[in-house]
Amino acid sequence: MKTKYSELERRKMEILYKVHNNLYVNLTNRCPCACTFCLRQNRDRIGESASLWLEHEPSFDEVQEAFSHFDMDDYDELVFCGFGEPTESLSMLIQTAEYVKDNWKKPIRLNTNGLGNLIHKKDITPEFAGLIDTVSISLNTPNEARYNEMVRSAFGEKSFKAMLDFASRCTRHIPKVIMTTVETTITRQEEAECKKICDSIGATYRIRPWENG
Ligand code: SF4
Repeated sequence: MKTKYSELERRKMEILYKVHNNLYVNLTNRCPCACTFCLRQNRDRIGESASLWLEHEPSFDEVQEAFSHFDMDDYDELVFCGFGEPTESLSMLIQTAEYVKDNWKKPIRLNTNGLGNLIHKKDITPEFAGLIDTVSISLNTPNEARYNEMVRSAFGEKSFKAMLDFASRCTRHIPKVIMTTVETTITRQEEAECKKICDSIGATYRIRPWENG
């Protein structure tokens, strides 16, 4: 049965929010990392959201209800992102991606820290086949020790290699695999090293702007 939300209640459970021409999905606040640069440390919102802190993780009924407030024709792409690591809520992510493909056939992107295989203790990348069109993985730095210092993963020092392995496995199932660093946070030399890593994996390297909105 679908839940009917007042605008206030919907704002308290912001499952979908607009960023530029894309519709973003916020399924979970869980994340195994505590990145030194995480936006959650000093803000409650991104894009046109009011607050991305969830009172609880949404059920599929609640996800469907949230879509009823948006016209998908207004958006170019659906993006799993939000205030947490989307693969923490893997079954809901897959169910939501299927729902969007079945109803609107929109391109779907997953923004991830790339630690989903550690979270689930198995290779989850085959589950994305035919559903996720683009995956954007935070590479952050070409330096393993520096990466582990930056992301402060609950999985410890194996995290950097696991993230690279995740990216490599994604290239088998997802048409477009992007690995990102944030502009001005590493040197030009380090950016060149990131490009080499991406080339060896078969991923596209992207230097993204510092988030400011
Ligand atoms: S992976 Fe993302 S959500 Fe998790 S701590 Fe890092 S920046 Fe924040």
